[in-house]
Amino acid sequence: MAVAGTRRFQNYIAGEWVDSASGETFETTSPATGETLGVFPRSSAEDVDRAVAAAAEAFEEWRLVPAPRRGEILFRFGRLLSEQKDDLAELMAREMGKVLPEAAGDVQEAIDMSFYMGGEGRRLFGQTTPSELRDKFNMSVRQPIGVVGAITPWNFPIAIPSWKITPALVCGNTVVFKPASDTPLLGERFVELLVEAGLPEGVLNIVHGGGGEVGDRLVRHPEVRVITLTGSRETGVEVMRNAADTLKHVHLELGGKNAIIVLDDADLDLAIEGIVWSAFGTSGQRCTAASRVIVQEGAYEELQSRLVAAAEKLRLGPGWEEGVDVGPVINRGALEKIHSYTEVGLDEGAKLLTGGEVASGDGLGEGFFYRPTVFGEVDPGMRIAQEEIFGPTTALIRVRDVDEAIRVSNGIRYGLSSSIFTRDVNKAFRAMRDLQAGITYINAGTIGAEVHLPFGGTKDTGNGHREAGQAALDVFTEWKSIYVDYSGKLQKAQIDTSE
Ligand code: NAP
Repeated sequence: MAVAGTRRFQNYIAGEWVDSASGETFETTSPATGETLGVFPRSSAEDVDRAVAAAAEAFEEWRLVPAPRRGEILFRFGRLLSEQKDDLAELMAREMGKVLPEAAGDVQEAIDMSFYMGGEGRRLFGQTTPSELRDKFNMSVRQPIGVVGAITPWNFPIAIPSWKITPALVCGNTVVFKPASDTPLLGERFVELLVEAGLPEGVLNIVHGGGGEVGDRLVRHPEVRVITLTGSRETGVEVMRNAADTLKHVHLELGGKNAIIVLDDADLDLAIEGIVWSAFGTSGQRCTAASRVIVQEGAYEELQSRLVAAAEKLRLGPGWEEGVDVGPVINRGALEKIHSYTEVGLDEGAKLLTGGEVASGDGLGEGFFYRPTVFGEVDPGMRIAQEEIFGPTTALIRVRDVDEAIRVSNGIRYGLSSSIFTRDVNKAFRAMRDLQAGITYINAGTIGAEVHLPFGGTKDTGNGHREAGQAALDVFTEWKSIYVDYSGKLQKAQIDTSE
């Protein structure tokens, strides 16, 4: 497909494509080559205020559109995404860097989510329940909340916007979307397709620009009633603090430090495949990436040597090239951060088994490539075993038994994904109960969520909400309880206790 080059893109506010008020711009570039892919408005608070005003106005009509009709727009959106899946995947390989099959998976997740949430248009179930009084009817219904500010990261540039925006819309909210500064082009394509699917003007707006300006204004804006953010823990803490003054709903999906446990009785072939996929897929830049592998001592030596051999076989290169396993990391800052953790690991006394360096030459050009990196003999308390690196680096930790494995897996501040490879059903069930995480996989790696189940984490990974599945509806609706008394007299709950 043709990539955008230096084409200028705009914000979409109140049904019109417009420049930022200041006229300032920024470029999006490919992490694989450094080429410029497009020029975007560097927006400010003024642009956000216009978008919020448009969304607030549109809300008054959109909330009254029957939910099944709102769902039909999402079905059309899902079909448009399907038709454009290959083009979008190619664009993603260029703008974000992931390899084509994974990029296609990212788009597929948005297709699945659109159809799932489109179906919610005919569900959005509430409850009916008996009353404690005669001739009285009780029910609860979900109601939309208002203007939603959706702030997304670059690592799933089509899927994550769909996790937030499709449920928000089907529930009857209107949205101001701020995509990550590293992937504005994919954010803009996402909005273009939703507009083409038939969204009325003002219902969805996109404002490009930095987190500190556009994101921050959304978070503080009194008319934005919900902020849904996926990003780092640090950003989440700031957002929660800044949203406090306006008491808005804050939905946070933050970092992870996920572990795969491999017990002595595991199928090692399967475990190694799962580790390679979870640790190095998307160059380790998934919130669910396996950046720790906790191995029981009987399996440790063999797993270590086979994992290193597998990591060394992985081919680095631009994501759109056939046969490439691992693409670039997102930008120079990320490359430097990942490498600084290699130095931290060495300083802490961990054993560098493979990788640990920036990769260049051999067709890698100006790209930000880092060699798949494995540390051995890592102590669970080391920084490389505690902090999110968000790159292709994983740490092997040796343990004696399943109890220690679970303790080590839980011994971090995050609680997103977890995994255990074992053939022992009793140990698998203990892990399902005791691993402190929002997601547990048995005999699979830490990545691979499906859209109809809740997605999110415990502890510092979030603030108790979940994305996807039915759980997402709780982020984007308020419960209203309705009591209809048809007795014709004033009946008093808790006081008129005789029947
Ligand atoms: P990030 O730096 O926290 O940015 C996330 C988004 O927040 C971006 O759009 C960013 O804008 C914006 N932002 C930054 N500062 C802000 C502020 N003060 N107020 C409002 N918005 C602000 O995260 P990232 O590097 O894009 O993504 C990686 C992180 O996301 C990792 O920690 C990863 O684990 C996490 N993640 C979590 C999940 C999950 O579901 N739990 C899924 C994917 C990723 P700019 O782009 O303009 O800086």
